[in-house]
Amino acid sequence: MKILVINAGSSSLKYQLINMEDESVIAKGNCDRIGIDGHIKHTTFDGRTVDTDCKFPTHTEAFEKLVEVLTTGDASVLSSMSEISAVGHRIVQGAEIFNKTTLVTDEVIQQIDDLSELAPVHNHPHALALRACKKVIPETTPQVAVFDTAFHQTMPEKAYMFGMPYECYEKFHVRKYGFHGTSHRFVTQALADAMGRDIKDLKIVSCHLGNGSSITAVEGGKSIDTSMGFTPLDGVIMGTRSGCVDASAVTFVASKLGLSPSEMSDYLNKRSGFLGISGISSDNRDITAAANDGDRRAQLVGEMLRYEIKKYIGSYAAIMNGLDAVLFTGGIGENSDDLRADVCRNMEYLGIKMNEKVNEGMRGKLCKISAPDSKVEVWVVPTNEELLIARDTKELVENM
Ligand code: ADP
Repeated sequence: MKILVINAGSSSLKYQLINMEDESVIAKGNCDRIGIDGHIKHTTFDGRTVDTDCKFPTHTEAFEKLVEVLTTGDASVLSSMSEISAVGHRIVQGAEIFNKTTLVTDEVIQQIDDLSELAPVHNHPHALALRACKKVIPETTPQVAVFDTAFHQTMPEKAYMFGMPYECYEKFHVRKYGFHGTSHRFVTQALADAMGRDIKDLKIVSCHLGNGSSITAVEGGKSIDTSMGFTPLDGVIMGTRSGCVDASAVTFVASKLGLSPSEMSDYLNKRSGFLGISGISSDNRDITAAANDGDRRAQLVGEMLRYEIKKYIGSYAAIMNGLDAVLFTGGIGENSDDLRADVCRNMEYLGIKMNEKVNEGMRGKLCKISAPDSKVEVWVVPTNEELLIARDTKELVENM
């Protein structure tokens, strides 16, 4: 069985074609600059490539090109699109409507589009891509939606409500939704498998640290709290996002700078975080290099990030009455050994003791990095959201 996984943004269409027999990637790539001009970069499992400019006025032309490179030319991997059993789409916001992976119908596409108010950057482009995909892919090929928020729908009311007037929830659906659910679900299950334990018996803090970061308390395989909130702005400091700030600081700065609500949103989402504090870059590698060169504000970014992650681990240990494991994933979590060591230092009271030697230099590999006598296991677990989307899609279509 072959599954095509799609992750669509407003101007891009990232894809992976996965062979479910051995879960290997047959081809992957990105249709970029949709609505601007257009470019496709495509690579096959055996190293054949397409890297060319195109015309992508809309997502439909991007899908048409994708079908063309998959089925014709030197880097083709299919004789026809009917070889694909299903298409799985990553969808950011499913709100309270979608608490699990769902077969796509016209009504589902409309519901995803209607949720755009809650996720303007993501959901409308997802709906555009779903409609374009329907036009281009054979009608008999099922499409499946996998939601970033679905995993967090198990959070209790006390965790997801904000202390604002109840009408904010009733009228405007303002509450914590949480994001990166696909990643947290994938890595916590992979961790349980690696530990040889049933996930139902585990209390895990899952730290997904990348450009966007979120930390989740997973008890018995269920998300019970997470650091991102109503949008992916909340939680720890991120590349260009502020993370948690006192809401009064937001209204205060907006009035001082004369910013409209949408300008203020840009200020917090695109000009804050690592970039805003350091004035150098949103990329952790640049920040680390500048910090090592003695730049005080870059050092401060690193200190803030480590401090905030530590606080989440402590608070989630408190709500779960203990911990069995802490895991690190995402570009920073998988690669930054010094951040992992700093976060886990002086946590003996919680039962966390690192194996600094194993941790050092460990990048992007499934690996236990805690000491043999550590009560709480600490792991690096590489994430693979595309694979989870493909697995979910396979399971759903097989049970149709
Ligand atoms: P996204 O959230 O966009 O998926 P990623 O998970 O790819 O992002 O993470 C990107 C972040 O990971 C960047 O800040 C980048 O600097 C950081 N990163 C990638 N490789 C390394 C590395 N070797 N050491 C430290 N940080 C890294």
